[in-house]
Amino acid sequence: MALHVVEHPLLAETMARLRDRTTACDDFRTLAHRASLLLAAEATRDLPTLAAAVRTPLETASVRRLSARVVAVPVLRAGLGMLGAFLDLVPAAQVGYFGLERDETTAVARRYYEKVPEELSDALVFLLDPMLATGGSAVMAVEGLRERGARRVRFLSIVAAPEGVARLAEAAPDAEIYTAALDRGLDDRKYILPGLGDFGDRLYCT
Ligand code: URA
Repeated sequence: MALHVVEHPLLAETMARLRDRTTACDDFRTLAHRASLLLAAEATRDLPTLAAAVRTPLETASVRRLSARVVAVPVLRAGLGMLGAFLDLVPAAQVGYFGLERDETTAVARRYYEKVPEELSDALVFLLDPMLATGGSAVMAVEGLRERGARRVRFLSIVAAPEGVARLAEAAPDAEIYTAALDRGLDDRKYILPGLGDFGDRLYCT
């Protein structure tokens, strides 16, 4: 499986502030958006394009236009914090939703909501989930995409744990992971260390 740990000075600064426990939730939201923009730019670097022409005010210019069918699928609820940034970059993307939640005591994920396009075999699908921890919900989401024929899947996370990367690699070796940080591991409550805490709680001020 391809694991891309995206390196960029602006992403490093953004991560420092996202991790900081004193960052308030309004700033956290802005920073999550910024980190997602930088990640999405990297994860879409090789999208296919087609030659085209447009008229400038002066003459005709040869240009390139996006030619891929792109589908973004945020995993509720924390993945919503990455969707706006993705759509800023790929406004024509289709959007689907997976509602997955993990049991706070067992850390086992459960699918409670799905609204995803039914036919995905010709799409490049970007799963958005900021914390790749145990990999349980990532695997569940990829399975949901595979049921709809998805063949090309990229998983965008802001922080990943080695355990989650390994689990996703085993279940979906052809999926690609883009992340801003590969952290040390999980604690006994399955939080990522050093991580940044509960992403959803920090994003939604809960
Ligand atoms: N989900 C989070 O929000 N944080 C973690 O550290 C792990 C899963």
